[in-house]
Amino acid sequence: MTSPTPTLPGQPFFAYRNGQLMAEDVAVADLARTHGTPLFIYSQAAMLSALAAYQRGFAGRQALICYAMKANSNLAILQTFVQAGCGLDIVSGGELERALRAGVDPAKIIFSGVGKTRTEMRRALQVGIGCFNVESLPELDVLNDVAINLGLRAPISLRVNPDVDAKTHPYISTGLKGNKFGIAHTDALAAYRHAAALPGLHVKGIDCHIGSQITETSPYLDAMDRVLDLVQAIEAAGIPIEHIDFGGGLGIDYHGDTPPAADALWQQLLAKLDARGYGQRKIVIEPGRSLIGNAGICVTEVLYGKTGEAKNFLIVDAAMNDLPRPAMYEAYHAIVPVTPRTGEASTWDVVGPVCESGDWLGRDRTLNAQPGDWLAVASAGAYCMSMASTYNTRGRAAEVLVRGHQTHVIRERESTDDQLRLERPLTD
Ligand SMILES: *Cc1c(COP(=O)(O)O)cnc(C)c1O
Repeated sequence: MTSPTPTLPGQPFFAYRNGQLMAEDVAVADLARTHGTPLFIYSQAAMLSALAAYQRGFAGRQALICYAMKANSNLAILQTFVQAGCGLDIVSGGELERALRAGVDPAKIIFSGVGKTRTEMRRALQVGIGCFNVESLPELDVLNDVAINLGLRAPISLRVNPDVDAKTHPYISTGLKGNKFGIAHTDALAAYRHAAALPGLHVKGIDCHIGSQITETSPYLDAMDRVLDLVQAIEAAGIPIEHIDFGGGLGIDYHGDTPPAADALWQQLLAKLDARGYGQRKIVIEPGRSLIGNAGICVTEVLYGKTGEAKNFLIVDAAMNDLPRPAMYEAYHAIVPVTPRTGEASTWDVVGPVCESGDWLGRDRTLNAQPGDWLAVASAGAYCMSMASTYNTRGRAAEVLVRGHQTHVIRERESTDDQLRLERPLTD
């Protein structure tokens, strides 16, 4: 009996042709053979198609899409989005340097994050970034001080916490009262008055970001209402707001999830903006996952099948150090064979070689796979490689970018020498 051909949720650029999983026009098996495993494979067409949905949504508007690069900060990925017109949302000095090397116009950089250091602020001011999204009152004062010392004025917006439930996993929800991000909605006006009075700051905008993997429209609509109420109050206090930044957070299909399409979401949000009279205001957004998550897969080789009374384990050569989301959030990634076999499938937990019980990639998966087969872990473009570590002294995976028939190695596999380069053994 032939099992039906599997599919990868939300990943039309990774499809089966003649019994083979393809990445655009390249056979995934050929890439695994040439570059080894674990291997991240990205489709540039998938990235640009995800971006195009936003661009369609914003047609005729003044909008800047700042790709939230923490989702995947490989230089070639950044270049793809930057060359397509994006700015970048950064959260560290390291990301700032990557962003500059990717060739982004510094004026299109937004600096987010609750713990910016003086050193990071200084560098960002010197290169002329577009805006600091400030997350606390003490940060306002430090930034003011750093800017004055440089003889500059820092462009800022305040990240406000609208206290809306994004209805997502608690670890990736950021817009509720009880979490560390942003300035409480109720304190925002006072914070703006404070900021406007500081000579080293220039108030540019307002910002919110309510969470990640959001699959419903209503939290965005609620957050927008709350932010617009604030804009009204802040401007009534004589502080002009040039741009409104609605953050990122739109979810993707990992496992039958049905987030709104970016253009459909923005059609509704823009209708609300128009209705409230803010339709001509400059809009900034910071999407990460929704631009890159379903543009990537991770290919892994099956090492062993270990059958037992309670569980069967399929041990593969990718692990939690490569794909941390299952261990961190119990996240689901579809796992499919690169070259499906005919015949009986069994139920397996797919696990990696790392010495942790939390090192699993998928539980109770129906698969027909033998040692030496390749499996593709789906939806692995976002928050996988950028969160990868070298735990267990495992070198980080290689990454390739596919464009039609072409393949570009965009990151070499990390060697043990690469890992040991900074260590200094004792000499006596
Ligand atoms: C992580 C993050 C984003 C991107 O979130 P996604 O869910 O990947 O779209 C945007 N803005 C800020 C401030 C973030 O921390």
